[in-house]
Amino acid sequence: MSFVEHLIIGGGISGCVMARQLAKHQLNFKLVEAQATLGGRIQSTEQGLDLGPTWFWPHQHSVESLLAELHIGFFEQYTQGDYVYQTEPNSPITRGRDQQGMLSYRVNGGMGTVITALSNTIPDENILLNSPVNQISKRDNIWRVTLINGGELSCDHLWLAMPPRKIAPLFLAADNRVLSEALVAHLQAQQTWMSAQAKFVAVYAKAFWRDAGLSGQGFSRVGPMVEINDACGADSNAPAALFGFVGIPAVNRQPLDEQQVINACVTQLGKLFGDAALSPISTHYVDWASNSLIASAADISEPSQHAHFNEAKYKAELKKLNLGLIGAEFSQTEPGYIAGAIDHVNKQVSEL
Ligand SMILES: Cc1cc2nc3c(=O)[nH]c(=O)nc-3n(C[C@H](O)[C@H](O)[C@H](O)COP(=O)(O)OP(=O)(O)OC[C@H]3O[C@@H](n4cnc5c(N)ncnc54)[C@H](O)[C@@H]3O)c2cc1C
Repeated sequence: MSFVEHLIIGGGISGCVMARQLAKHQLNFKLVEAQATLGGRIQSTEQGLDLGPTWFWPHQHSVESLLAELHIGFFEQYTQGDYVYQTEPNSPITRGRDQQGMLSYRVNGGMGTVITALSNTIPDENILLNSPVNQISKRDNIWRVTLINGGELSCDHLWLAMPPRKIAPLFLAADNRVLSEALVAHLQAQQTWMSAQAKFVAVYAKAFWRDAGLSGQGFSRVGPMVEINDACGADSNAPAALFGFVGIPAVNRQPLDEQQVINACVTQLGKLFGDAALSPISTHYVDWASNSLIASAADISEPSQHAHFNEAKYKAELKKLNLGLIGAEFSQTEPGYIAGAIDHVNKQVSEL
């Protein structure tokens, strides 16, 4: 069993930011991730199109600071022109203009560039990919972590950068129950934000909607997508694209054939933005609800809400255990958001 001072489980942005900080402080650590790549909910195509998170907002200074440190640029979400909306299946498409134009930012090259840049600051030998953890226990004041492939790791400080509902089962799988019953129940009550969503992206040869005075924003009570946005990259070499959130609830979506959902999304884009939208160069579709490392059954069946983890109540228990809960959902300021994830990790590091 190999021993490290600090062990991080989960290689999304929370785990990667923590790993970068530990590397900066020259501490002895390992980052363990179940999947073949880092990023977790952050996923971008090779062309930089975001299939997970897309935006951050002007008040989220921790995102801006991290981007500056990693030398990554950002740009304003395109909202110039009219939006389109449809209220009933047979009602005409209506145009409108959002006078306020809520400001949001996107990352040059997609959110995935943040993960790539973060991973470049973490020594390769400190990262263990394709390594799902299936059990966590504590004996003689040392954490013991078992991997599905049979490997074992031990550590002093354990950092869990995972969706809250994925945590308790790992403890309950071990014989010795380390966490209090109240903490287990509280973890099980925290929903993982956006984990029940599905996102669709259509890539085009050009942003024809912009030429027609449209912003690329669309709203629909007909579906399958409920909200659509311009997903073009920052410069003219970047792909022209539209993306949308599929509004069919996850439980109803799961039995559907994926290709049927994709076809229905393309048909809807044609209705909203005209015939040019019917011929995308390529399409991308990710149903996050089907990723069992992110979404739990309860996340899929409940109405969407943000986590409310009561840090003050469990602080003493966690401190005594040398256990840090650092996923985005544990943020006390912006639970579920990338900004929340970064802030929360930075706060935990400052208290080390
Ligand atoms: C469709 C969508 C749109 C979103 N839009 C936005 C947005 O516009 N702006 C915004 O701020 N946020 C948005 N979010 C939320 C944002 O993605 C999250 O806040 C952020 O990515 C969470 O990062 P994390 O590292 O805390 O968790 P995650 O990214 O969930 O990472 C957890 C990691 O833990 C790993 N893991 C789980 N179980 C195990 C195990 N047993 N062993 C080892 N590893 C394990 C997982 O594989 C995963 O890599 C969106 C999310 C989705 C899905």
